[in-house]
Amino acid sequence: MKFPTGPYVGSTAALATMHKKELAIAVPFAAALGVSLRVTGDVDTDGLGTFAGEVERAGTPRDVAVRKARMGMKAAGLELGVANEGTFGAHPYMPFSAVDHELIVFVDDSRGIVITESVLWPQTNSATIAVSPIDELDVFLGRALFPSHAVIVRPNDRIESSSIQKGICDLSLLRKSVSEAAASSADGLARLETDMRASFNPTRMGVIRRVAFRLARRLATACPGCSAPGWGRIRVEDGLPCSLCGTPTEMARGEVLGCLACDREEFRPRADGMIHADPRHCQVCNP
Ligand SMILES: [Zn+2]
Ligand SMILES: [Zn+2]
Repeated sequence: MKFPTGPYVGSTAALATMHKKELAIAVPFAAALGVSLRVTGDVDTDGLGTFAGEVERAGTPRDVAVRKARMGMKAAGLELGVANEGTFGAHPYMPFSAVDHELIVFVDDSRGIVITESVLWPQTNSATIAVSPIDELDVFLGRALFPSHAVIVRPNDRIESSSIQKGICDLSLLRKSVSEAAASSADGLARLETDMRASFNPTRMGVIRRVAFRLARRLATACPGCSAPGWGRIRVEDGLPCSLCGTPTEMARGEVLGCLACDREEFRPRADGMIHADPRHCQVCNP
């Protein structure tokens, strides 16, 4: 393995997490960047929003991640901080399939930079269902990857922290929780959900590790102009021309690499070598 290089070798970054995210982030940061993490587990990151919904998330995932990173930096007294924020929802192009959008930020107050990386990952067990105590749960639990992945149970008619049971990975406890939640819900149903907290969800932990590697590699890449860390993709440029009439389409033409410290930018054509779009993506040929 290559030794880590770059301006961060030997430094320490704060990681605010209540859910053992160091298991996913420590190795990428050590291997690609030479940075060790100081975990600040006593920082209440759940106060910024939870998956179960009893605390609503305020602001964009990026805002929340930056706030988390700063909470950790403050608690640890460090100028570097890292934080992750995940969102689960419908895939933008594949209906009926869930997607895991993991975002990770690195805040460097000594250089005044904030760098974000993210991945959209189609492998997630994220799901929710309303059940009665006599319902067959096998199909749902199979897709939820239970019991290696935990589930959450609450009454179907309300979301309040006192009635949510999280981190369930035992079948008899699950059945008991479903009965109790259903009995206390006005409609007689329990809401069963996958527990998306990283420490209860190995699939998600793997996606966080992936995005952490992407961020660490980027931080190890210096700007060719001013040699600040974090050179990488800053946007995608669309307008790939139609192969029939040449009209720019909404398909990506390539990406722009950029620096966060100076205004240097470089255009890089598509990695797959495609230089024309199929006419079915064209507004003129296929309106
Ligand atoms: Zn630069
Ligand atoms: Zn065309």
